[in-house]
Order: sequence, then structure tokens, then C-alpha cells
Amino acid sequence: MVERAQAAFAGRLDVLLGLESDFMPGLEPWLERLHRRAPLHHVLGSVHYQMAFYRERYFTGDVFLYQKTYYEHLALAAESGLFDTLSHPDLVKNERPAEWHFPRIRDVVERALDRIAVTGVAMELNTSGLLKAIPEMNPNAEQLRLMRERGIPVVLGADAHRPDRVADGYGAALRLLIEAGYEEVNIIVNRRRQAIPLQLALQSLR
Ligand SMILES: [Zn+2]
Repeated sequence: MVERAQAAFAGRLDVLLGLESDFMPGLEPWLERLHRRAPLHHVLGSVHYQMAFYRERYFTGDVFLYQKTYYEHLALAAESGLFDTLSHPDLVKNERPAEWHFPRIRDVVERALDRIAVTGVAMELNTSGLLKAIPEMNPNAEQLRLMRERGIPVVLGADAHRPDRVADGYGAALRLLIEAGYEEVNIIVNRRRQAIPLQLALQSLR
């Protein structure tokens, strides 16, 4: 399908093959094999707290502990070396939104970001968060500033799922990056990160 789309849009639009890959400790050998099965341009690593297989293993009924486990697993995903980017990296806030208090989890987030920064793995700013229980992007502006302090590169994503949501909210996302102190946004091509100045990215939006 991707090859057909590449041929159909040649010269007008670059169509690349990527994968959003589920991370959980212990899956590494399987993920290594999976990622070798196709010539992928971009591999995103995701901790999906809402998936039954993940919840069964890690949810004890203590929501704060679940939030902490999520950030531990984000750091492990970065350290695994399997991924270019960590997807929607505060998604767990939507598990019982009333129990998400950023000041309470801030230390845990900072320690995870310290570990992620060392790996050079990028983190996504995902605009689809606006459509979820806590209507803000993933991650929120506070986490984005902590990422900026540590020089963690950011990749934009809309998690479109539908053609009409492709690049949804990118203008607002780029402005959020500027407010957080970023000067560049990144794309991943052939599993390599390429930086684009934010002003140039803003001008490219139509
Ligand atoms: Zn996801």
C-alpha cells in the first residue's frame, strides 16, 4: 500500500513507512525482530496504559503508582535503543483525570526525562491529546518546558487515524514549542533525525 501511494504521489508528496510500536519490559527481543521486518523510516515507541495486556500486568488499583510506572517504562523504552521517538509521552494522565496532578508527579517526570535526554531519543508533541479526557496536547506545556531544559528533541504528530486530521493543530503545536523555548522541530527520515527551524515550519503550514 505504501509503495503504491509513493508511486501515485511521486513528485508531489513524500509517503514514508513508519511504525508505532508498543513497549513493555520484556518485549525487546520480539520488537527487535519486528522492526527488522520492513524498511521503516520512523519507529515510535509507545507505552499504552489503556491496553488490556498492560493494565493486567501493571495496574494495582493505585493510580499514582500507575503514573509512576508509566514514566519508568518511557525511560526504559528510550534506553532500549529500539525507537526514534517516544509517542504522546504523558498519555497516562487520561487514566482517571481527577488523579492527575502535575506538581505531585513532577519529580518522577524529571528523573525519567534525565534518563531519556542521555539517550538522544526524541519525544513527540501529539496534538490528538486535545480530543482526550484531559483536553491538552501530549505532553502538556509544563512537561514540554522540562524537556526543553534537557535538550530533548521534539517531533510533531497528529495521531490522525483519519485523513482529515493529518497535521491537525500543527500551528498551535509549533507555537507551544516556541513558548517552551524551542527553536527547532524535527522530522525522522530513514531513522535519522533532521531539525527544521520553527519559523520555517510555521511558514510551511497552509
Ligand atoms: Zn499511541
